[in-house]
Amino acid sequence: MNKTWIVTGGSRGFGRAVAERAAAMDARVVIIARGAEVLEVAREIGGQTIGLAVDICNDAEIEKAIATIADRWGPIDVLINNAGLHRGGLIEQIDARDWSDVLATNLSGPFHTIRSVLPHMGEHGSIVNVGAVVGFRGFSGDVAYGTSKAGLAGMTQVLAVELARRGIRVNLVVPGFVDTDMTAALSQRARTRLLERIPLGRPGTPDEIAEVIWWVANASYMTGSIIATDGGLMCSL
Ligand code: NAP
Repeated sequence: MNKTWIVTGGSRGFGRAVAERAAAMDARVVIIARGAEVLEVAREIGGQTIGLAVDICNDAEIEKAIATIADRWGPIDVLINNAGLHRGGLIEQIDARDWSDVLATNLSGPFHTIRSVLPHMGEHGSIVNVGAVVGFRGFSGDVAYGTSKAGLAGMTQVLAVELARRGIRVNLVVPGFVDTDMTAALSQRARTRLLERIPLGRPGTPDEIAEVIWWVANASYMTGSIIATDGGLMCSL
């Protein structure tokens, strides 16, 4: 295949599963995360995978990192905007810093990353953003996260139209509930209540989400689409 993929948040969770999938198909894969362990994870994934410790909230840093990748490997074919941050809190209680951090990571991060990638993305490029069910349905206590993911859904649709003339596709995959570090902090009560709402009756796995991201990234007649991968959660709410 020999395409170049960038996967933000590729050091764990389903970002890592996407990177493993792409590497297994002989793609050149760049995984990006803040923590230094991203370098070791890239070695574990193997193939032509490299890890970069970069904060997507830092626009200068991400721009420089992506220019370096393009210098080394040429045009970028696929960008998976998967890095994300969850901080909960009701409107009157959420810490203002948490609000800003969530918006910076989940909304401004993909904005900076897409702007940095576009000069290096050839025709037939593909961008997959990772949304969340709370971007489409009201979950009490998720004002920051829900707002950020709703914004990402809007960005996806605007850019699908703006970038279509350059042959670049932009889609949104919407996972439901998956056991990762992000959801490990959920209380047992919240977890049970959420599982009761999932028609398939269980959380998804990182590999199940990665499979859909992989497929959407390669779907040549799909742009501006919103693809729920949630065991039916969205339609039961
Ligand atoms: P996770 O296990 O918490 O992993 C998040 C990844 O993003 C890590 O690699 C993390 O590495 C990276 N990251 C966070 N902030 C970053 C930043 N500022 N710059 C660069 N990298 C950053 O999360 P996950 O559960 O796999 O979720 C992946 C995506 O799916 C997120 O967008 C999340 O909102 C979305 N999602 C998850 C679920 C779920 O049930 N798990 C459901 C719906 C949607 P560092 O911390 O080292 O930076």
